[in-house]
Amino acid sequence: MSVLVVGSVALDSVITPFGKADEVIGGSAVFFSAAASLFTDVHVVGVVGPDYPRADLSFLTDRGVDLSGVETAEGESFRWAGKYSYDLNSRETLDTRLGVFADFQPRIPDAFRNARTVFLGNIHPSLQASVLDQVERPDLVACDTMNFWINGARAELEALLGRVDLLMVNDEETRQLADEPNLVKAVRWIQERGPRAVVVKKGEHGAMLFHENEIFFVPGYPLEDVRDPTGAGDSFAGGFLGYLDSTPHWDDGAWRRAMVYGSVTGSFAVADFSVRRFRTLSRDEVAERARLFRRLTAVEFEIADAL
Ligand code: AMP
Repeated sequence: MSVLVVGSVALDSVITPFGKADEVIGGSAVFFSAAASLFTDVHVVGVVGPDYPRADLSFLTDRGVDLSGVETAEGESFRWAGKYSYDLNSRETLDTRLGVFADFQPRIPDAFRNARTVFLGNIHPSLQASVLDQVERPDLVACDTMNFWINGARAELEALLGRVDLLMVNDEETRQLADEPNLVKAVRWIQERGPRAVVVKKGEHGAMLFHENEIFFVPGYPLEDVRDPTGAGDSFAGGFLGYLDSTPHWDDGAWRRAMVYGSVTGSFAVADFSVRRFRTLSRDEVAERARLFRRLTAVEFEIADAL
């Protein structure tokens, strides 16, 4: 089994109330593969410039991530800069420099085309569609997007929804996409256009899964030290899809466990800047935090006793 991810491979500059980082490795494909590679084989397609510190990605190759689909093009690597508020719940984009990303045309190597699971990171919906034109028959196509494309490429995004099994978006994007303030109704609107599953991410407050007629919720792990929320969403997606890809049968329980693993990997992403925490993260530590999640959310009681 393997996951194919197409997304940004970036240099991020981040300011939080707890410190700053300059031109550190980031991007949706990098955070995603750091998390997904704890569960399964990952193939990455993206683009960087000759200025990209490829050696900083070697911890991913050591974990079996195949970066041969990350091409080097003439120009500057994609750069993003952001600043977080005091409570880390909102961020301001200070700068986005597309560089080589502006002319990115994803080319999926032959060896990647039969992936079981595909994650379309946050890029133009037409490029996301071009990835789907190049792959064979994945069991699951998951897709991220952002307000920029909801406003700027709505027709292409709506067309893409018909080809996607799972949409992963935050609560604000969900409402904006459906033009509907009620989250449940907004998700139904999305499901009517294609995706049988929708994951609505709510930052530190967790995430909701709408899968066919089931609804499931996981909290964010209550951490004492959060240093940099950048990449939490992509790391959530990596844990979620990495787990599913490594699981033969996708019953309701598998989808729920995927939510827990997504929240687990998301919680490690925010513990430090860039992908720093993933460099040393072991599968045992992931398993231990998943056990803590089980305890965090478990409750046994007889309803009849109280009523
Ligand atoms: P997240 O915090 O999970 O939403 O993802 C943050 C990552 O998204 C950062 O590492 C950025 O490099 C990357 N990013 C920010 N803006 C864009 C964009 N317009 N296109 C692609 N990737 C982006």
